[in-house]
Amino acid sequence: MRIDPSRCTGCRLCVQYCPARAIFIEDKKATIDESKCFECALCRRVGVCKVEAFVPAEELPWPRSIRSILSDPLTTFRETGVSGRGTEEMKTNDVTQRYGLGEYGLAVDVGRPNVGTSFREIERICVALAKVGVKFEEKNPVTFLMTDASKGTIRDDVKGEVVASAVIESKVPEGKLLEALDALKQVAREVDTVFSVGVISRCREDGTIPALELLSEGGWQVSTRGKTNVGLGRA
Ligand code: SF4
Ligand code: SF4
Repeated sequence: MRIDPSRCTGCRLCVQYCPARAIFIEDKKATIDESKCFECALCRRVGVCKVEAFVPAEELPWPRSIRSILSDPLTTFRETGVSGRGTEEMKTNDVTQRYGLGEYGLAVDVGRPNVGTSFREIERICVALAKVGVKFEEKNPVTFLMTDASKGTIRDDVKGEVVASAVIESKVPEGKLLEALDALKQVAREVDTVFSVGVISRCREDGTIPALELLSEGGWQVSTRGKTNVGLGRA
């Protein structure tokens, strides 16, 4: 994203909307610190600039384009065909049955809210999970950027890129769930970002949720969520 200095009046209205705190005022004009900018286009999409001074890049070069792919919900990642940060199936398990009984989905949502992250930090979380033996979701953009999905390593050219957030999706067998959560707890102390963790569990036929018993045994306090996405998923 760029700001056209010939249009900008320096009104400061846009500054508060930038989640990366990348917009600053210099010589009475707004400027964007390119190293911090997530390319999320929020500054432009909110329509706060009365003089339309925001100028989006026509086509961002690789690897900078990954910022927009993960941070701007209107951008689709061509290689996975998925818009945004994750895959719809993670939220529509009843349709796709991606996660069966005896296994769990793990969704690690990195960088939200309003902190952001880099692929260097994302890699540290992925490596910690890989050591436990999780299987990363193939159609997820983060997995696509791995050099070795069995180790969780990310390709060098994107490691310095910053994004508003990313979702690491994986599947873990029942016997490894607590170990994976402990690994996340440990790496949370080491990374320079924030993350939340969702455990995805298929319900038994009687409506009970196996993950709840396991997590309780492991001393975890959980808040349960059901999600119905009308119109999402595939038959
Ligand atoms: S809202 Fe527009 S005119 Fe005001 S500081 Fe931002 S870019 Fe400049
Ligand atoms: S594109 Fe996003 S991160 Fe970049 S200046 Fe605009 S709001 Fe900030």
